[in-house]
Amino acid sequence: MTQLEYDRRHIWHPYASIGNPPPVNFAKSASGVEIELADGSRLVDAVSSWWCVAHGHNHPAIVEAIRRQSERLCHVMFGGFTHEPAVELAERLAAFAPPGLDRVFFADSGSISVEVAAKMAVQYQNALGRPGRNKLVALKGGYHGDTSLCMALSDPDGMHVLFRGVMTRHFFAEKPTIPPDGEWDAADAESLRRIVDEHGDEIAAVICEPVFQAANAMSFYHPEYLREMRRICDERGILLVFDEIAAGLHRTGPRWAHERAGIMPDIMTVGKALTGGHITLAATLASAKVADTISVGTPGAFMHGPTYMANPLACAAACASLGLFAADDYAAKSEAIGRQFKDGLSPLRALPNVRDVRVMGAVGIVETRRLPSAEDIARVIRRHGVWLRPFCNFVYGMPPLVSDAATVERIVAAIAELASAPPGPPTEDGGFHE
Ligand code: PLP
Repeated sequence: MTQLEYDRRHIWHPYASIGNPPPVNFAKSASGVEIELADGSRLVDAVSSWWCVAHGHNHPAIVEAIRRQSERLCHVMFGGFTHEPAVELAERLAAFAPPGLDRVFFADSGSISVEVAAKMAVQYQNALGRPGRNKLVALKGGYHGDTSLCMALSDPDGMHVLFRGVMTRHFFAEKPTIPPDGEWDAADAESLRRIVDEHGDEIAAVICEPVFQAANAMSFYHPEYLREMRRICDERGILLVFDEIAAGLHRTGPRWAHERAGIMPDIMTVGKALTGGHITLAATLASAKVADTISVGTPGAFMHGPTYMANPLACAAACASLGLFAADDYAAKSEAIGRQFKDGLSPLRALPNVRDVRVMGAVGIVETRRLPSAEDIARVIRRHGVWLRPFCNFVYGMPPLVSDAATVERIVAAIAELASAPPGPPTEDGGFHE
């Protein structure tokens, strides 16, 4: 049995059947913007391997940081120990984050960092003598991860409906509808205000993906929504959590997506590009107010502690990644990719199978009426040598931020060809698979 055959029979892939598995590519190596396959062919990684490979694959500075760290300390439990890469990363993150978010919890994935953020909010309210405030408000159309609390905070009618029975019920405000360049109307946040008015005493925090609702809706909304959100939270002593896992670290232009709104969250999650896509790590950053309140409450300790918390290899990789972000103008890189996406993708609006085109920073989205067939998608990927991963009815590019103009041009050409293809058959699962 070849390795590929063994894989097909024994290994689950994300959002995939193991009984009738979809084809997978056999990756052999990767460098820069390209992944090399076992047969020697190469694919441009137009989705940054789920949006994390910001500086390109196997970046020498990050690889070297991991190698050097591996010679000294691969892992040590974080209970009772600390180490240089963790402290350096906390310092770097605090300097990188909006001012005041300098209390750091290291998590092993984005989902866990969101779970941690939600638990912090509940423990904060508990410490203030409000144990009844143990629910969160999230936005319809949002996505915060696949673990159970994250599912419960993601779009209630989205990819996790099957698990409704095991999820705790939280509150959902209507999906924001006004695009970033539209005319702001406070009515867009009316449902959020109503929920908070009616259930304020049950609510610990409001959570959202600032400006860019990624894995569930692939849409952008008006930054003024965030300012309104901040006002609503402040009026009721509710914490505000921004999940910057997808939108942050220049994916949508500025370092943090919420910078467009000029306000601050109380808690923020960061993941994906934190290690430049080299090894899993995320972090939950909190303000001193949140941290100090949790500390003076009962039990004082914050009750979370994963086995691989602050893994030294991952922290070293993240230090190198943040070093790269700091050493170059990534906002300009992101905006340059965005300009090319705007020029190349906007004309696709005229195509019969295209419903909308949306661009912000290094995110270019073509919303089709229905995705082309799996065969057409595979054909376009092969023909252009560009790895696309369409889902629901979205064909999109989120390439490494270091992609040059020629690379972005190839991505635009591949997306354009897919957008021109006829709609494929409807899918049984709605095509929810990021
Ligand atoms: N939050 C957002 C906004 C995300 O886009 C994702 C993943 O796509 C997550 C959380 C979950 O991160 P992870 O897949 O690392 O658990």
